[in-house]
Order: sequence, then structure tokens, then C-alpha cells
Amino acid sequence: MALPEWLHWDDQHHRLLFLGQPATLFWQQPSLASMMVPLYEELGETYFSLLVAYSASHHSETDYEVITRYDDESFVNGLLHWGEKIATAGWGEITGAGFDDSLPSAQLVVKNPWEHQLFPDMKEEHALPFLCGKLSGIFSLHLQRNMRARVSHLEILGDECIARIQVIPSNITLQAELQTLTEKEGFTRVEKLQFKNQQLTQKNIELEASNRRLSELATMDALTGMANRRYFMELAEREFNVCRRYRYTSSLLMLDIDFFKEINDKYGHLAGDEVLKGIAEVCKELLRKTDFCGRFGGEEFLIMLPHTDLDGACVIGQRLGLRISQLVVPYEEHRLQVTISMGVSAYKETDQVLDSWIKRVDDALYDAKHQGRNQLICRS
Ligand code: GH3
Ligand code: MG
Ligand code: MG
Repeated sequence: MALPEWLHWDDQHHRLLFLGQPATLFWQQPSLASMMVPLYEELGETYFSLLVAYSASHHSETDYEVITRYDDESFVNGLLHWGEKIATAGWGEITGAGFDDSLPSAQLVVKNPWEHQLFPDMKEEHALPFLCGKLSGIFSLHLQRNMRARVSHLEILGDECIARIQVIPSNITLQAELQTLTEKEGFTRVEKLQFKNQQLTQKNIELEASNRRLSELATMDALTGMANRRYFMELAEREFNVCRRYRYTSSLLMLDIDFFKEINDKYGHLAGDEVLKGIAEVCKELLRKTDFCGRFGGEEFLIMLPHTDLDGACVIGQRLGLRISQLVVPYEEHRLQVTISMGVSAYKETDQVLDSWIKRVDDALYDAKHQGRNQLICRS
């Protein structure tokens, strides 16, 4: 429950601070207590009444002391003495009190309580929250069990108001009741908005996640986790344009698995898939974060090496060829091994379109195949 800023709940001392002062101070003076009216309007009768009663009940030790110190024989005498004191503060006059120890229950009659003058519209069950809170606290201390005071009857006779208060055991504490109410309907408008906001934020997070998932599906190759052909071409086009504009060199590498059909024919398509995944793993492991790979065709991959000249790309290609030839892919009882052929070429200023760069790389790969496979051809 978010309280208005002029009202503060002091958790350490279990008290309500009103403009930085204990709210009980205000209650002792009807003129000061009238400052509570906006609070009443803001929180509504039920919540306001519970909050005030809880606050008052929490600070009834000194009241109880006044009562027991006055007459340690008769609790009712002490209570009436305490009543005289509060009457001078304007809380109303306790004109009658009955107390049955055995039930236990108590009845009090209070004349002209100012709380009623301040909040005349309050229903009986919520009326005189401060006085009822105090009495709840006092009787709970006296009987060492949870007691609750409530107005059972309000009588208005001309200018006079007579309130009958009944104090009986209760199996729910004011604090628990307040908490339940706070959870159930204690949201202020601001809190409701905050709650809505939280829900929206949560929805947003979920939407973003599913968007990410969708764009992954649209850009990734499901088997290898590499960029799919369409997405790779988009990234490559961007790289090509950057190379053209800033006149720097990037290199492109194309690889194709040697005799891959044999793997499929001998061990089955699933075995071939495992090999493709294994090769993708090696590429991810070996390349820089800024490099990017794409699955160009069935078992052909394209790799873009930004800011890498032909010599650098050849070194990387050799390393990649070596690592893949050392790769052992377990499949059922088999240990599968493959080699790759590669073509590599750097961007040239004469390349008008991305395709001419790719064509050069493709030609180099073709030559690598024809010169015996398991090798890299660099094309300047
Ligand atoms: P070469 O050395 O000339 O490249 O011989 P190759 O057998 O590898 O010939 P080619 O590159 O033409 O073979 C392509 C084969 O790749 C054909 C197809 O069965 C296989 N292939 C393509 N996509 C997949 C895939 O997703 N999974 C599996 N297991 N095999 C694929
Ligand atoms: Mg092929
Ligand atoms: Mg092949």
C-alpha cells in the first residue's frame, strides 16, 4: 500500500507518522485530528479505520500502565480513571463500563466522542477507530489474548452522540486484518498503475524474447546455428558496401566438404548431419567474433573475414582445413572424418557488385576440387 507522502509508516516503531510526527499526537487534539480528513478521503473508510486502529492499538502500553497503576485491584476503576483523562482531551466521556472476566467481554458507553464529529458518516463497524484501537490494545494486554473493540451501536440524540462499544475476543489481529485488506484491495490508483506497468514490462520482455526467437528462426540455419543463406547475403552485402566506401580489405572464404556424398551413402543422412554440425562447431571456435559464417548450400559454407587481407585469410583457411581434417565425428560405432576444399579471395576495388567477389571465390574452390581436393586456393 503506497501511502500519500505526508503520511509515513514507521516500521521500526510500528507507528504512523503524519507530517513527520506520530499520528497519535494528532489524535489527542480534535483540531489537529481534522488534518486527518484528507487521509480518510484518500484511503476510504475501511482502510483508514483499520490503519488508525492498528496504529492506536500498538501504542497502548502507556495507557495500560496508567490504568493498572491507578488501582491494581480493580481494572474497571483504572479504566474509568483513564477515561477521565482522555475526556479532558476531548475524546469523549466514558459514562459506563462493564467487564465480565469470565466471558471475557466488556461494554463501554462513550458520550460525544470527537471522532464521530470529525467522521460523522462512518458506519458503526468502522466508527471511533482510534478509541477502539486503544481499547483493543488495552484489553489484549490485560487478558493476554487478542481482543477487539468495535462500536456496536451509535445513537444520535439532538446534539448528543452516545456510542456503545463492545470488546470481545477476536481470532484475527488488527495487523493481520490490515495486511489482508492491503493485499485484497488496498491498492491506490498509483499502485494500480505501477502494477499495470509491471505487467506491461513483463509482457514486453516476453514479446522481445519471442521476437528474438522469431528473428533467429528467420536468420539462422537450424542444423548448424550459422546464418542461413539469405541472412548471410544480407550481412555480406553490408560488408561489401563498407569495403567499397572505406577502401579497406576484407576476405571471403568458401568451403565445400570433399566426397560428402560418400558419407551420406555409407552411413546415412543423419551421419552427414552430424558432420555438418561438427564443422560448424570448428568454424565458431576458430574464427573471431567479428567474422561471420553462413551455410550457403547443403554442405557449402561461406565465411566473411572483415579487415583481413588475402595473406591473413590464407593463414586462417589453412588452419581451418587442418583442424577439420583432424576432426573426428562419432556416429553410432563409427568415427567419421572428412576433408574440405576451400577458395578464398579478398575484396577488390574493381568489384562492382558482391556477386563478382563471390564468383572469384567460387572459381577458386572449383580449382581446389580439380587439383585434388583437401586444399585451399587463394585467388588475388
Ligand atoms: P565433392 O568433393 O566434389 O564436393 O564431392 P561431394 O560428394 O561432396 O559432392 P557435392 O558437394 O556435390 O555433394 C553434396 C552432397 O551433400 C549432396 C547431398 O547429399 C549432401 N547434402 C546436402 N545438404 C545436406 C544436409 O543437410 N545433410 C546431409 N547429411 N547431407 C547433405
Ligand atoms: Mg557441394
Ligand atoms: Mg562436397
